[in-house]
Amino acid sequence: MSLKRPGAAPTVVLVGRPNVGKSTLFNSITNSRQAIVAPLAGTTRDTNAQPAEWQGNHFSLVDTGGMFGAQTDPLHALVVEHGRKAIAAADLVVFVVDGREGLVPGDEEIASALRSVTGPVIIAVNKTDDHRSKGRHVEFYTLGFEPVIEIAAEHGQGVGDLLDEIVARFPAGTSERPAPVKDVETRVAIVGRPNVGKSSLLNRLLKEERAIVSDMPGTTRDTVDAVLKWQKRTFRILDTAGIPDNANPIPRTTCSASTPTRLASTGSNANGTVLATVTIS
Ligand code: GDP
Ligand code: MG
Repeated sequence: MSLKRPGAAPTVVLVGRPNVGKSTLFNSITNSRQAIVAPLAGTTRDTNAQPAEWQGNHFSLVDTGGMFGAQTDPLHALVVEHGRKAIAAADLVVFVVDGREGLVPGDEEIASALRSVTGPVIIAVNKTDDHRSKGRHVEFYTLGFEPVIEIAAEHGQGVGDLLDEIVARFPAGTSERPAPVKDVETRVAIVGRPNVGKSSLLNRLLKEERAIVSDMPGTTRDTVDAVLKWQKRTFRILDTAGIPDNANPIPRTTCSASTPTRLASTGSNANGTVLATVTIS
């Protein structure tokens, strides 16, 4: 495998139908609660990238939204576009499937889309803690990607084996930690009720479609973490999930790290402090 961006840490992208456990696996590998895990299909719509490490091998892990299988979602086209970009930038793809349900047509659709991927594709058969998944992993060999690894992301089972297979495919010399960023980041959280324009503000700041924006309240359900350079200073901008009307009241001016908006855990290297907060209403 050769890296898409030589010299940078490899990028590993999780893809799969909604609800197979991508975000659970993402959280397990990155040891974070960044990605929202929900029994509701289609919860994760934005892509979410975090640094990860296994046995001294550093890489960037990307959780994609429900880019496959949610065609009725009015945001589907945008979600697909974000996911397509993530896959195009992937050095390695982990194709997550649901062992409890076995092989379904949606998996075959994704497999077809992944045939054009140049890097390795590893299949992770999730939910193998459930007795209904017993022996079903063999069905996934027909998709044509190997290895096929059985995991239970929720309990961490098999995740180490999966990580062994991932890092074994990294080119030699990529195991070192990426050089630390020297300049100090100012973390800025964008906070406000749903639909007030938080994601539009973020996009304007970044001048690219990093966050999914729509006029549907509550569209951005995961936080978006982006880095912006401005006049030689670095800002990490956190676009928080829409806070529903019935949520605990959020102070208008500043927001402490202990508020229920998950601000405390938003920065990838955050120590829990949000240094500046933009509240729009
Ligand atoms: P995503 O849509 O692919 O990101 O899926 P999520 O990570 O949000 O998980 C969807 C559902 O599957 C949630 O209810 C999880 O609790 C459940 N889930 C995830 N991993 C496992 C697992 O290893 N075993 C079982 N039994 N359930 C799991
Ligand atoms: Mg998800």
